[in-house]
Amino acid sequence: MKYLLVIAVVVIFYLYLKKQRAPLRPPPKTGTSLAPPQSMQACAHCGLHLPAQDALRDAAGRPYCSEAHRLSGPSHGG
Ligand SMILES: [Zn+2]
Repeated sequence: MKYLLVIAVVVIFYLYLKKQRAPLRPPPKTGTSLAPPQSMQACAHCGLHLPAQDALRDAAGRPYCSEAHRLSGPSHGG
């Protein structure tokens, strides 16, 4: 019966070492959680900053935050 105890201790010790040597999981990659950086542009009429892709543009290519400001044109005295 003494050997059973020795074997049990050896098996437990073996499992313990096996657990210790398990490879560590790599850190999770932050892929889709962060949006890619966007270039911001200021509305030529009111100065509101908005993503360049959301900006409305006039014939001259100036960005505007809305259709109303695009129709109003750039602010005066700029
Ligand atoms: Zn505006």
